[in-house]
Amino acid sequence: MTEPVRHDPHGFWIAEAGAGPPLAPLEGDLEADVVIVGGGFTGLWTAWHLLGKDPETRVVILESDRVGHGPSGRNGGFADALWVSFERLVEEYGLGPATDVARASGESVHQIGEFAESEGVDCWFRRDGYLNVSTSPSQDFSWRPNVEAMTRAGFEDLPKELDHTEVEAICSSPAFREGIFYREAATVQPARLAFGLRDRVAGRGALLFEHSPVRRIEDGPGGVALFTPTGSVRADRLVMAAGAMLAGIGSPLADRVTLASSHMVVSEPVPDLLDEIGWTGGQAISDCRSLLNYFRTTPDGRIAFGWGGGRIAAGGRRRGTAEVDPAVIGQVVRNAISYFPGLAGRRFDYAWGGPIDASATHLPQIAVMPSGRSFAAVGYTGNGVGPSQMIGRALASLTLGLDDRYSRLALIRPASAMTRVPPEPFRWVGGAVIRMAIERREAAEIEGRRPDPLSSAISDIPRLIGFHIGR
Ligand SMILES: Cc1cc2nc3c(=O)[nH]c(=O)nc-3n(C[C@H](O)[C@H](O)[C@H](O)COP(=O)(O)OP(=O)(O)OC[C@H]3O[C@@H](n4cnc5c(N)ncnc54)[C@H](O)[C@@H]3O)c2cc1C
Repeated sequence: MTEPVRHDPHGFWIAEAGAGPPLAPLEGDLEADVVIVGGGFTGLWTAWHLLGKDPETRVVILESDRVGHGPSGRNGGFADALWVSFERLVEEYGLGPATDVARASGESVHQIGEFAESEGVDCWFRRDGYLNVSTSPSQDFSWRPNVEAMTRAGFEDLPKELDHTEVEAICSSPAFREGIFYREAATVQPARLAFGLRDRVAGRGALLFEHSPVRRIEDGPGGVALFTPTGSVRADRLVMAAGAMLAGIGSPLADRVTLASSHMVVSEPVPDLLDEIGWTGGQAISDCRSLLNYFRTTPDGRIAFGWGGGRIAAGGRRRGTAEVDPAVIGQVVRNAISYFPGLAGRRFDYAWGGPIDASATHLPQIAVMPSGRSFAAVGYTGNGVGPSQMIGRALASLTLGLDDRYSRLALIRPASAMTRVPPEPFRWVGGAVIRMAIERREAAEIEGRRPDPLSSAISDIPRLIGFHIGR
């Protein structure tokens, strides 16, 4: 097997972008109008839109590590709209509200590009669409229910179903069969976007503190108070944008989100291979597995390849196998070579991973906490790059008390209305067993073997208990 040259929690994008000097931690006591926990895309977009609407708002962002070093700075960089989940949006919210959410998420992709252009943030934004391919007979046309939901809703701008020849014309792989192409999707260099946002948000007057983990939150009728090891912030409104950490022990949402992980590798530049397989259009591509393989190219001709089959991390743990896992990376490399045999013998420069916050519906939500003054964004389930800009707009409107199309999005709900995930330890033990069964079933299907009956039965459990797996 080709061992990646470097395997660490942060990966290629952050190293390529260069994080810049660290920001000081919070020291002492501060007052603010809005305090945001977490310096990822959700927290940064919230601050950006808040200060765009009301430049006088005193905004503080507390980040436990470094801004943009969590999943926001090290994901696949697929910026998708929620049209890929339209069928489920309709099931969850009904046709009208689902359409509002999907439309806003489509606009979100464009708005990220507009931000990059108007603010001079060179984050490699390319709006070249998203191709979803089947790689086994069981995946063929798995997108049909979603397209049918869009057809029933009367949309004219439907994603385009592609036959094998049309798929091959975009990217040739011995593994690909049929596909579906969504136009409203882009790719970004995620760390460049996160660091660009960080700097623009600071330029608008937000105070950002790194290495400032929030250890305790008091959320009462008179306001909120947050405590880090070296300081505190009192504020009128709170946004919890702590990503997968909201699934952790002690989180008020620990029973609403579960923690999985996703892992990536990036090859050395292989422009000759991209020419050979015809993948020169910049499209983002994934297969239709529940444990999704996803891949895209970079301007210097690398292939970045990820797999959502990482282990489930118990209790929101960080710096464990959710981030560095040689066994899982071995599988990612094998998957990459099986889809692109020309990668055999080529160097993989980086490997890394990160936690994924999975909700039972696999849809992102804004949870309104009982006090009515605190909000949490959770459950992106591996699709947060595009939607977080829209969610940031909604959080800005909510914290400013505005009544607009964003503050009325159906994905805003009382925390108590979010579907629960199974309790620990069943969540972790059961999740690990189900993950292994799905992996065995899907591997057998791709290799053209009949899956063993036990793996098939176990991998069907999530559907039977109403927990959605996959896109
Ligand atoms: C390997 C990988 C690949 C992915 N690929 C894609 C993709 O291609 N497309 C896509 O749309 N999505 C993808 N995702 C998911 C995407 O990265 C996330 O949905 C998105 O970044 C969520 O942003 P966020 O701001 O909500 O959370 P995060 O980026 O997790 O940011 C939360 C921040 O909160 C901080 N924090 C946590 N606890 C505390 C605390 N107590 N005090 C202070 N700060 C705290 C964390 O350090 C972190 O910086 C991927 C994720 C991974 C791991």
